[in-house]
Amino acid sequence: NQGWTLASRPHGKPVQENFEFGELPLPSLEEGDLLLRTIYLSLDPYMRGRMSDAKSYAEPVKLGDVMVGGTVSRVVESRHGDFQPGDWVLSSGGWQAYSVAPATAVRKLGNDLANPSWALGVLGMPGFTAYMGLLDIGEPQPGETLVVAAATGPVGATVGQIGKKKGCRVVGIAGGEEKCRHAVEVLGFDLCLDHHRDDLAAELEKACPDGIDIYYENVGGKVFDAVLPLLNTKARIPVCGLVSGYSATDLPEGPDRLSLLMGNILKKRLRVQGFIIFDDYGHRYGEFLEVMEPWVEKGEIRYREHVVDGLQNAPEAFFAMLEGKNFGKTVVRVAQD
Ligand code: NDP
Repeated sequence: NQGWTLASRPHGKPVQENFEFGELPLPSLEEGDLLLRTIYLSLDPYMRGRMSDAKSYAEPVKLGDVMVGGTVSRVVESRHGDFQPGDWVLSSGGWQAYSVAPATAVRKLGNDLANPSWALGVLGMPGFTAYMGLLDIGEPQPGETLVVAAATGPVGATVGQIGKKKGCRVVGIAGGEEKCRHAVEVLGFDLCLDHHRDDLAAELEKACPDGIDIYYENVGGKVFDAVLPLLNTKARIPVCGLVSGYSATDLPEGPDRLSLLMGNILKKRLRVQGFIIFDDYGHRYGEFLEVMEPWVEKGEIRYREHVVDGLQNAPEAFFAMLEGKNFGKTVVRVAQD
Protein backbone atom coordinates (compact mmCIF):
# COMPACT_ATOMS: atom_id res chain seq x y z
CA ASN A 1 0.00 0.00 0.00
CA GLN A 2 1.31 3.44 -0.93
CA GLY A 3 0.18 6.90 0.00
CA TRP A 4 0.79 10.33 1.45
CA THR A 5 1.30 11.15 5.11
CA LEU A 6 1.51 14.57 6.72
CA ALA A 7 5.22 15.19 7.31
CA SER A 8 5.09 18.72 8.76
CA ARG A 9 2.61 21.51 9.36
CA PRO A 10 2.56 24.37 6.85
CA HIS A 11 3.26 27.96 7.75
CA GLY A 12 1.22 29.86 5.17
CA LYS A 13 0.69 28.09 1.88
CA PRO A 14 1.17 24.32 2.04
CA VAL A 15 4.22 23.00 0.17
CA GLN A 16 5.37 19.63 -1.16
CA GLU A 17 7.67 19.11 1.87
CA ASN A 18 4.62 19.04 4.15
CA PHE A 19 3.79 15.64 2.63
CA GLU A 20 5.71 12.39 2.38
CA PHE A 21 5.02 9.58 -0.07
CA GLY A 22 5.81 6.02 0.90
CA GLU A 23 4.79 2.51 1.87
CA LEU A 24 1.96 2.47 4.39
CA PRO A 25 0.82 -0.31 6.69
CA LEU A 26 -2.71 -1.69 6.41
CA PRO A 27 -4.46 -3.11 9.46
CA SER A 28 -5.63 -6.70 9.16
CA LEU A 29 -9.34 -7.22 8.58
CA GLU A 30 -11.63 -7.79 11.55
CA GLU A 31 -15.16 -9.20 11.33
CA GLY A 32 -17.36 -6.53 9.63
CA ASP A 33 -14.41 -4.85 7.85
CA LEU A 34 -13.76 -4.20 4.18
CA LEU A 35 -10.49 -3.94 2.29
CA LEU A 36 -10.92 -1.15 -0.24
CA ARG A 37 -8.99 -0.11 -3.33
CA THR A 38 -9.13 3.63 -3.92
CA ILE A 39 -10.29 4.55 -7.41
CA TYR A 40 -10.94 8.29 -6.90
CA LEU A 41 -9.68 10.60 -4.15
CA SER A 42 -11.45 13.90 -3.49
CA LEU A 43 -9.34 17.01 -2.86
CA ASP A 44 -11.16 19.68 -0.86
CA PRO A 45 -10.33 23.05 0.72
CA TYR A 46 -11.04 21.76 4.26
CA MET A 47 -7.89 19.62 4.05
CA ARG A 48 -5.81 22.79 4.50
CA GLY A 49 -7.44 23.15 7.92
CA ARG A 50 -6.66 19.56 8.89
CA MET A 51 -2.96 20.16 8.19
CA SER A 52 -2.93 22.80 10.91
CA ASP A 53 -3.11 22.13 14.64
CA ALA A 54 -5.07 25.32 15.36
CA LYS A 55 -8.26 24.57 17.28
CA SER A 56 -11.13 23.83 14.91
CA TYR A 57 -14.34 21.84 14.48
CA ALA A 58 -12.36 18.71 13.59
CA GLU A 59 -9.19 17.13 14.93
CA PRO A 60 -6.05 17.86 12.90
CA VAL A 61 -4.26 15.08 11.03
CA LYS A 62 -1.43 13.91 13.27
CA LEU A 63 2.12 14.19 11.94
CA GLY A 64 2.98 10.87 10.28
CA ASP A 65 -0.66 9.93 9.70
CA VAL A 66 -2.24 9.41 6.28
CA MET A 67 -3.85 12.57 4.92
CA VAL A 68 -7.62 12.41 5.27
CA GLY A 69 -9.91 12.47 2.27
CA GLY A 70 -13.14 11.20 0.81
CA THR A 71 -12.72 8.33 -1.65
CA VAL A 72 -14.73 6.35 -4.12
CA SER A 73 -13.36 2.86 -3.76
CA ARG A 74 -14.02 -0.75 -4.73
CA VAL A 75 -14.25 -3.64 -2.32
CA VAL A 76 -11.32 -6.03 -2.64
CA GLU A 77 -12.14 -8.27 0.31
CA SER A 78 -15.25 -8.31 2.49
CA ARG A 79 -15.82 -9.57 6.02
CA HIS A 80 -19.40 -8.27 5.95
CA GLY A 81 -22.39 -10.08 4.43
CA ASP A 82 -23.79 -7.04 2.62
CA PHE A 83 -20.67 -6.36 0.56
CA GLN A 84 -19.04 -8.33 -2.24
CA PRO A 85 -15.68 -7.87 -3.92
CA GLY A 86 -16.07 -5.38 -6.75
CA ASP A 87 -18.77 -3.29 -5.05
CA TRP A 88 -18.40 0.49 -5.36
CA VAL A 89 -18.48 2.46 -2.10
CA LEU A 90 -18.09 6.01 -0.86
CA SER A 91 -15.56 5.99 1.96
CA SER A 92 -12.99 8.09 3.78
CA GLY A 93 -9.95 6.16 2.65
CA GLY A 94 -7.59 9.14 2.59
CA TRP A 95 -4.60 9.77 0.34
CA GLN A 96 -3.64 6.13 -0.14
CA ALA A 97 -4.09 3.31 -2.65
CA TYR A 98 -5.83 0.91 -0.27
CA SER A 99 -7.68 1.30 3.02
CA VAL A 100 -9.52 -0.78 5.60
CA ALA A 101 -12.89 0.42 6.92
CA PRO A 102 -15.76 -1.06 8.86
CA ALA A 103 -18.72 -1.66 6.52
CA THR A 104 -20.80 0.59 8.76
CA ALA A 105 -18.59 3.56 7.85
CA VAL A 106 -19.04 3.36 4.08
CA ARG A 107 -21.97 4.05 1.76
CA LYS A 108 -22.86 1.66 -1.07
CA LEU A 109 -22.96 3.39 -4.44
CA GLY A 110 -24.52 0.78 -6.69
CA ASN A 111 -22.52 -1.05 -9.34
CA ASP A 112 -23.90 0.41 -12.55
CA LEU A 113 -23.23 4.11 -12.05
CA ALA A 114 -22.25 6.08 -15.13
CA ASN A 115 -20.04 8.40 -13.06
CA PRO A 116 -19.04 6.89 -9.69
CA SER A 117 -16.70 9.81 -8.92
CA TRP A 118 -19.65 12.23 -8.84
CA ALA A 119 -20.37 10.90 -5.34
CA LEU A 120 -17.41 13.07 -4.28
CA GLY A 121 -18.94 16.19 -5.79
CA VAL A 122 -22.41 17.20 -6.83
CA LEU A 123 -23.89 13.95 -5.45
CA GLY A 124 -21.82 14.03 -2.28
CA MET A 125 -20.40 16.33 0.37
CA PRO A 126 -19.94 19.50 -1.76
CA GLY A 127 -23.37 19.17 -3.40
CA PHE A 128 -24.96 18.56 -0.02
CA THR A 129 -23.18 21.65 1.33
CA ALA A 130 -24.52 23.79 -1.51
CA TYR A 131 -28.03 22.42 -1.09
CA MET A 132 -28.37 22.86 2.67
CA GLY A 133 -26.50 26.15 2.99
CA LEU A 134 -28.50 27.81 0.25
CA LEU A 135 -31.94 26.39 1.00
CA ASP A 136 -31.87 26.23 4.80
CA ILE A 137 -29.88 29.37 5.60
CA GLY A 138 -30.12 31.39 2.38
CA GLU A 139 -33.88 30.81 2.00
CA PRO A 140 -33.96 31.96 -1.65
CA GLN A 141 -37.12 33.65 -2.90
CA PRO A 142 -38.11 34.29 -6.54
CA GLY A 143 -36.75 37.57 -7.85
CA GLU A 144 -34.02 37.89 -5.24
CA THR A 145 -30.38 38.49 -6.13
CA LEU A 146 -27.97 35.73 -5.12
CA VAL A 147 -24.20 36.18 -5.30
CA VAL A 148 -21.78 33.26 -5.02
CA ALA A 149 -18.00 33.04 -5.57
CA ALA A 150 -15.84 30.03 -6.49
CA ALA A 151 -18.70 29.82 -8.96
CA THR A 152 -17.41 26.93 -11.05
CA GLY A 153 -16.29 24.76 -8.12
CA PRO A 154 -18.54 21.97 -6.85
CA VAL A 155 -20.14 24.06 -4.10
CA GLY A 156 -20.52 27.38 -5.93
CA ALA A 157 -21.71 25.88 -9.23
CA THR A 158 -24.40 23.91 -7.43
CA VAL A 159 -25.46 26.89 -5.30
CA GLY A 160 -25.94 29.06 -8.37
CA GLN A 161 -27.90 26.42 -10.28
CA ILE A 162 -30.22 25.72 -7.34
CA GLY A 163 -30.64 29.49 -6.99
CA LYS A 164 -31.81 29.66 -10.62
CA LYS A 165 -34.28 26.84 -9.96
CA LYS A 166 -35.68 28.89 -7.08
CA GLY A 167 -36.16 31.90 -9.35
CA CYS A 168 -33.24 34.04 -8.19
CA ARG A 169 -31.12 36.33 -10.29
CA VAL A 170 -27.70 34.69 -9.89
CA VAL A 171 -24.41 36.56 -10.12
CA GLY A 172 -21.32 34.38 -9.96
CA ILE A 173 -17.77 35.42 -9.17
CA ALA A 174 -14.92 33.29 -10.50
CA GLY A 175 -11.24 33.46 -11.36
CA GLY A 176 -10.87 34.21 -15.06
CA GLU A 177 -12.90 34.72 -18.20
CA GLU A 178 -13.14 31.06 -19.17
CA LYS A 179 -14.68 30.12 -15.84
CA CYS A 180 -17.08 33.06 -16.08
CA ARG A 181 -18.17 32.02 -19.56
CA HIS A 182 -18.83 28.51 -18.25
CA ALA A 183 -20.91 29.86 -15.35
CA VAL A 184 -23.17 31.77 -17.73
CA GLU A 185 -23.28 29.54 -20.80
CA VAL A 186 -23.27 26.09 -19.20
CA LEU A 187 -24.49 26.60 -15.63
CA GLY A 188 -27.09 29.23 -16.57
CA PHE A 189 -26.01 32.03 -14.20
CA ASP A 190 -27.28 35.46 -15.21
CA LEU A 191 -23.85 37.05 -14.94
CA CYS A 192 -20.38 36.15 -13.74
CA LEU A 193 -17.54 38.50 -12.79
CA ASP A 194 -13.81 37.80 -12.80
CA HIS A 195 -12.40 38.58 -9.34
CA HIS A 196 -8.90 39.05 -10.76
CA ARG A 197 -10.04 42.37 -12.24
CA ASP A 198 -9.20 45.52 -10.27
CA ASP A 199 -12.67 46.98 -10.65
CA LEU A 200 -14.55 44.06 -9.02
CA ALA A 201 -16.42 46.28 -6.55
CA ALA A 202 -17.66 48.66 -9.27
CA GLU A 203 -18.57 45.77 -11.58
CA LEU A 204 -20.48 44.02 -8.82
CA GLU A 205 -22.42 47.18 -8.05
CA LYS A 206 -23.42 47.40 -11.73
CA ALA A 207 -24.32 43.71 -11.76
CA CYS A 208 -26.61 44.04 -8.74
CA PRO A 209 -28.78 47.12 -9.35
CA ASP A 210 -31.31 45.93 -6.75
CA GLY A 211 -28.66 45.05 -4.16
CA ILE A 212 -27.84 41.57 -2.84
CA ASP A 213 -30.35 39.45 -0.92
CA ILE A 214 -28.22 36.34 -0.45
CA TYR A 215 -24.46 36.16 -0.42
CA TYR A 216 -23.36 32.54 -0.23
CA GLU A 217 -19.92 32.96 1.33
CA ASN A 218 -17.23 30.61 -0.02
CA VAL A 219 -14.17 32.82 -0.18
CA GLY A 220 -14.09 35.94 2.04
CA GLY A 221 -11.36 38.53 1.36
CA LYS A 222 -11.83 41.16 -1.29
CA VAL A 223 -14.97 39.47 -2.64
CA PHE A 224 -16.67 39.98 0.71
CA ASP A 225 -15.42 43.59 0.77
CA ALA A 226 -17.15 44.18 -2.57
CA VAL A 227 -20.35 42.47 -1.40
CA LEU A 228 -20.77 44.17 2.01
CA PRO A 229 -21.92 47.64 0.86
CA LEU A 230 -24.44 46.08 -1.56
CA LEU A 231 -26.27 43.88 0.94
CA ASN A 232 -29.97 44.60 1.32
CA THR A 233 -31.85 44.83 4.59
CA LYS A 234 -32.58 41.30 5.83
CA ALA A 235 -29.99 39.76 3.52
CA ARG A 236 -28.82 36.25 4.40
CA ILE A 237 -25.21 35.10 4.41
CA PRO A 238 -24.66 31.35 4.73
CA VAL A 239 -20.99 31.30 5.80
CA CYS A 240 -19.74 28.14 4.13
CA GLY A 241 -16.03 28.80 3.66
CA LEU A 242 -13.34 31.48 3.55
CA VAL A 243 -10.86 29.88 1.21
CA SER A 244 -9.03 33.12 0.36
CA GLY A 245 -7.68 33.16 3.91
CA TYR A 246 -7.01 29.49 4.68
CA SER A 247 -3.25 29.94 4.36
CA ALA A 248 -3.06 33.45 5.85
CA THR A 249 -0.51 33.88 8.63
CA ASP A 250 -1.52 37.38 9.76
CA LEU A 251 -4.53 39.62 9.77
CA PRO A 252 -4.53 42.00 6.79
CA GLU A 253 -3.04 45.44 7.32
CA GLY A 254 -5.20 48.51 7.69
CA PRO A 255 -7.76 49.94 10.06
CA ASP A 256 -9.88 47.55 12.13
CA ARG A 257 -13.04 46.96 10.10
CA LEU A 258 -14.88 44.89 12.66
CA SER A 259 -17.15 47.77 13.62
CA LEU A 260 -17.99 48.33 9.94
CA LEU A 261 -19.04 44.69 9.68
CA MET A 262 -20.98 44.65 12.94
CA GLY A 263 -22.61 47.98 12.07
CA ASN A 264 -23.85 46.49 8.80
CA ILE A 265 -25.14 43.38 10.55
CA LEU A 266 -27.01 45.58 12.99
CA LYS A 267 -28.42 48.25 10.70
CA LYS A 268 -29.35 45.91 7.85
CA ARG A 269 -30.41 43.12 10.22
CA LEU A 270 -28.24 40.66 8.31
CA ARG A 271 -28.50 36.97 9.05
CA VAL A 272 -24.94 35.66 9.07
CA GLN A 273 -24.74 31.99 9.87
CA GLY A 274 -21.88 29.53 9.67
CA PHE A 275 -22.45 25.81 9.27
CA ILE A 276 -20.44 22.59 9.16
CA ILE A 277 -22.27 20.34 6.78
CA PHE A 278 -22.33 16.92 8.43
CA ASP A 279 -22.38 18.27 12.00
CA ASP A 280 -25.42 20.43 11.31
CA TYR A 281 -27.24 18.59 8.56
CA GLY A 282 -26.01 14.98 8.52
CA HIS A 283 -29.52 13.76 9.27
CA ARG A 284 -30.79 15.32 6.01
CA TYR A 285 -28.38 13.57 3.61
CA GLY A 286 -31.09 11.20 2.37
CA GLU A 287 -33.42 14.06 1.56
CA PHE A 288 -30.64 15.80 -0.38
CA LEU A 289 -29.91 12.70 -2.50
CA GLU A 290 -33.59 12.18 -3.25
CA VAL A 291 -33.81 15.68 -4.71
CA MET A 292 -30.37 16.02 -6.28
CA GLU A 293 -30.09 12.66 -8.05
CA PRO A 294 -33.05 13.32 -10.38
CA TRP A 295 -31.88 16.89 -11.00
CA VAL A 296 -28.47 15.63 -12.09
CA GLU A 297 -29.89 12.71 -14.07
CA LYS A 298 -32.17 15.01 -16.07
CA GLY A 299 -29.32 17.43 -16.71
CA GLU A 300 -31.06 20.17 -14.73
CA ILE A 301 -27.97 20.54 -12.57
CA ARG A 302 -24.71 20.43 -14.54
CA TYR A 303 -21.42 19.27 -13.12
CA ARG A 304 -17.82 19.59 -14.17
CA GLU A 305 -14.80 17.67 -12.86
CA HIS A 306 -11.13 18.46 -12.87
CA VAL A 307 -9.50 15.02 -12.94
CA VAL A 308 -5.81 14.59 -12.16
CA ASP A 309 -4.23 11.18 -12.83
CA GLY A 310 -2.03 9.46 -10.26
CA LEU A 311 -1.84 9.54 -6.48
CA GLN A 312 1.72 10.88 -6.83
CA ASN A 313 0.23 14.14 -8.09
CA ALA A 314 -2.15 14.70 -5.18
CA PRO A 315 -0.21 17.45 -3.35
CA GLU A 316 0.30 19.49 -6.51
CA ALA A 317 -3.37 19.14 -7.45
CA PHE A 318 -4.31 20.20 -3.92
CA PHE A 319 -2.18 23.37 -4.07
CA ALA A 320 -3.60 24.16 -7.51
CA MET A 321 -7.17 23.82 -6.22
CA LEU A 322 -6.54 26.20 -3.34
CA GLU A 323 -5.27 28.79 -5.83
CA GLY A 324 -8.07 28.39 -8.35
CA LYS A 325 -6.06 26.52 -10.98
CA ASN A 326 -8.74 23.83 -10.97
CA PHE A 327 -11.71 24.14 -13.29
CA GLY A 328 -14.46 22.10 -11.62
CA LYS A 329 -14.37 19.60 -8.78
CA THR A 330 -10.83 18.33 -8.16
CA VAL A 331 -10.51 14.54 -8.00
CA VAL A 332 -7.45 12.33 -8.31
CA ARG A 333 -7.87 9.15 -10.36
CA VAL A 334 -5.79 6.82 -8.20
CA ALA A 335 -6.45 3.61 -10.13
CA GLN A 336 -8.34 2.47 -13.21
CA ASP A 337 -11.54 0.69 -12.29
P1 NDP B 1 -13.43 24.79 -5.18
O1 NDP B 1 -13.22 23.52 -5.93
O2 NDP B 1 -14.32 25.81 -5.78
O3 NDP B 1 -11.98 25.39 -4.91
C1 NDP B 1 -11.76 26.57 -4.24
C2 NDP B 1 -11.91 27.78 -5.18
O4 NDP B 1 -11.86 28.96 -4.42
C3 NDP B 1 -10.79 27.93 -6.18
O5 NDP B 1 -10.95 27.10 -7.30
C4 NDP B 1 -10.90 29.40 -6.54
O6 NDP B 1 -11.84 29.53 -7.61
C5 NDP B 1 -11.52 30.02 -5.29
N1 NDP B 1 -10.56 30.92 -4.62
C6 NDP B 1 -9.37 30.59 -4.09
N2 NDP B 1 -8.75 31.69 -3.60
C7 NDP B 1 -9.60 32.73 -3.83
C8 NDP B 1 -9.54 34.13 -3.57
N3 NDP B 1 -8.47 34.68 -2.95
N4 NDP B 1 -10.58 34.91 -3.94
C9 NDP B 1 -11.65 34.37 -4.57
N5 NDP B 1 -11.76 33.05 -4.85
C10 NDP B 1 -10.75 32.24 -4.49
O7 NDP B 1 -13.93 24.50 -3.69
P2 NDP B 1 -15.27 23.82 -3.14
O8 NDP B 1 -16.40 24.08 -4.05
O9 NDP B 1 -14.95 22.42 -2.76
O10 NDP B 1 -15.48 24.63 -1.77
C11 NDP B 1 -15.96 25.96 -1.79
C12 NDP B 1 -15.99 26.51 -0.36
O11 NDP B 1 -16.89 25.73 0.43
C13 NDP B 1 -14.64 26.45 0.38
O12 NDP B 1 -14.48 27.62 1.13
C14 NDP B 1 -14.80 25.25 1.30
O13 NDP B 1 -13.96 25.33 2.43
C15 NDP B 1 -16.27 25.38 1.65
N6 NDP B 1 -16.91 24.16 2.16
C16 NDP B 1 -17.52 24.23 3.40
C17 NDP B 1 -18.19 23.17 3.93
C18 NDP B 1 -18.90 23.34 5.22
O14 NDP B 1 -19.36 22.33 5.80
N7 NDP B 1 -19.02 24.53 5.74
C19 NDP B 1 -18.21 21.87 3.22
C20 NDP B 1 -17.59 21.91 1.90
C21 NDP B 1 -16.95 23.02 1.42
P3 NDP B 1 -11.76 30.75 -8.67
O15 NDP B 1 -10.60 30.50 -9.56
O16 NDP B 1 -13.07 30.72 -9.35
O17 NDP B 1 -11.58 31.98 -7.85
